[in-house]
Amino acid sequence: MKRILRFLIAALVWALAAQCAQQQMQRQVRESRTVALDIGHYYAPGRGGQGARTPDASQGGALEECEFWYKYAGDVKNVIEQAGYKCIVINRGDTPTDPALAKEAKRIGVIQVKTPQPAAVYLSRHHPKRMAVGILSADRALDCKPAAVIFLHLNSDSDSWRISNKGAFYCNPVGVTLATTMADTMNRRIFNCGLPNHGIPCGVVVRTDGHKGGGDWLNTCNDSFVPAAITEAVFLSNPEHARYLNAPANARQFARAIGEGTVRYLEGR
Ligand SMILES: [Zn+2]
Repeated sequence: MKRILRFLIAALVWALAAQCAQQQMQRQVRESRTVALDIGHYYAPGRGGQGARTPDASQGGALEECEFWYKYAGDVKNVIEQAGYKCIVINRGDTPTDPALAKEAKRIGVIQVKTPQPAAVYLSRHHPKRMAVGILSADRALDCKPAAVIFLHLNSDSDSWRISNKGAFYCNPVGVTLATTMADTMNRRIFNCGLPNHGIPCGVVVRTDGHKGGGDWLNTCNDSFVPAAITEAVFLSNPEHARYLNAPANARQFARAIGEGTVRYLEGR
């Protein structure tokens, strides 16, 4: 009887301690004023960015998502910093060899998370049951105890041109409000007003499965109670989207709308 009682007391103490630790982590996230931006994929010397690409250069130029974000992450960061938050930019690779991208990386202070094998799967340091390609930069984002993590990507669903309009922000369960606010900002500022999208609004997709597009980056953030979203709103395989993004003024506006959505979420917490 005594033994059972001792066991029950120990279990209760353990549960209370776990709950206390969880509440402390949640408070830390709520009070954080730091946003981490992760430039998706990496840049291979001589080969360029290793993310999705436009099928060809026919829509105003060739675009690749990692290179795109090296160019425009500074615009997202600017909006966040102007609202009084700290913003760090991360990429899982070396500085690009392209001089213009390298200059911009230096200007905005990109933290290069050297990944020994950029295409390999790694375990998360924060939550070792989570594993993914690119998890090291999600870990680096969590190191700075952020209020939110934004994984900067562009979508693509075909190797040839195809009009796709179902772009979305993929988010973790604790990031639903973040993603919804970002999508709403996209809809007010960009989608169907500038960016042609045939009247279809930007969506929100909650991801909890690591096997489905970035789940483990989102999961590892979720395990730390950090709202996170992957920006898969526009398609490089959509000729109308590619033409839009190839105009630098549009690309800037699109990048700023990502920053504005993030800020609106932070202000509304
Ligand atoms: Zn991507």
